[in-house]
Amino acid sequence: METPYYLYDMNLLESTLTQAQTAADLYNMKLMYAIKANTNKRVLEKIKSYGFGIDAVSIGEIELAIECGFLPNQIVFAGSGKTKREISRALEYGIAVLHCESIQEWDYISSIYTNDCPTQIALRINPNVSVDTHANIQTGGENHKFGVSIREAHDLIERLLQENASLLPCGFHFHVGSQITQMDFFEDMSIAVNRFLSSLPSNFEFNYLNLGGGLGINYNDPETDCMPNFVGWMRAIRPHFSTERFPVIHLEPGRSLVGQSGKIIAEVLYVKDRPGEKIAILDAGMNDLMRPALYEARHLVTIHQAISHNQTIENYTVAGPSCESTDTFGKNFRLPVLQTGEQVAIHSCGAYAESMRLDYNQRGKAACVYLETPAVNYVGKESSVEMVNAE
Ligand SMILES: *Cc1c(COP(=O)(O)O)cnc(C)c1O
Repeated sequence: METPYYLYDMNLLESTLTQAQTAADLYNMKLMYAIKANTNKRVLEKIKSYGFGIDAVSIGEIELAIECGFLPNQIVFAGSGKTKREISRALEYGIAVLHCESIQEWDYISSIYTNDCPTQIALRINPNVSVDTHANIQTGGENHKFGVSIREAHDLIERLLQENASLLPCGFHFHVGSQITQMDFFEDMSIAVNRFLSSLPSNFEFNYLNLGGGLGINYNDPETDCMPNFVGWMRAIRPHFSTERFPVIHLEPGRSLVGQSGKIIAEVLYVKDRPGEKIAILDAGMNDLMRPALYEARHLVTIHQAISHNQTIENYTVAGPSCESTDTFGKNFRLPVLQTGEQVAIHSCGAYAESMRLDYNQRGKAACVYLETPAVNYVGKESSVEMVNAE
């Protein structure tokens, strides 16, 4: 099999989806998969078979979801920069809920909205909470571009009530960041959400609540901890909202549903000796996995297929082939002696890897391989498991 390629463990994906759905049933949550995390059709088909809805951030994502068989009334649409065309197309499709992210956007939607349209319009609120994740993947601080501020939401709702407007928000959407692993932050967010909800005029009625995604995965140790804490996430949120008032709360997991089910398998092309370190250059790079270059994300790298079996541990900088110095997976990877031709696995590449791939340097799109045979366990056993359906 020619490297590099994305390797998807469809069994791990199924277990993850099962666990997520079981937790959601327990806590009365509806799961809307954030499709931007991974738009691979085989992955989408699997997610569809579990009955999840879709959270999209562009008309392209909406159309892809529809093409894959998701029903428009199972799709919600967020995004701080929707074009007029995207908005009108989404309304024509009759998606379930459009998450409006600015006052100008609201006014535009009201101007074209007709009452026979099945789409409901919710407001995305920026609750001004900070979360402990990389600055580049926080979204809920007061200076972030996403959503409307609490102040703007109040003003808008008061204005609409006063005007007796025919279109009113059906409810609210929040999404405060990604790769959140401390459950306290979901509690803090829930408290902030409640504070906002209880500050609304008492004559304003709404029934929709969507608390976004953000549940993190274990990038350091995916081999022993491959299952996100779905129960912990929902347990941190649900007790803050009565099931009478909110029989169902929507969540939009992306990374947590797919992240651990993908790896990139790459070959070591060259090993360079540099003062205090060795640099291993792979045939996979930022064009296949942009996260390290984009926000210093660290992915576990292990040997996938050895040649020398020399077990001496050395310190490596692992880099890609692109013509950018930031095309590196990081420094200080402790790995057995690497040599040209050996294969490494870059772990936790199921989310924001294939969907973020670049054409930069025209390296072509890496193939996808799907493990369908039940694995004995989910740990580093690829070479003993039959690979099927290489594309
Ligand atoms: C990206 C995104 C998500 C998914 O975030 P994850 O951290 O991958 O779970 C959910 N909702 C919205 C609005 C998003 O933009």
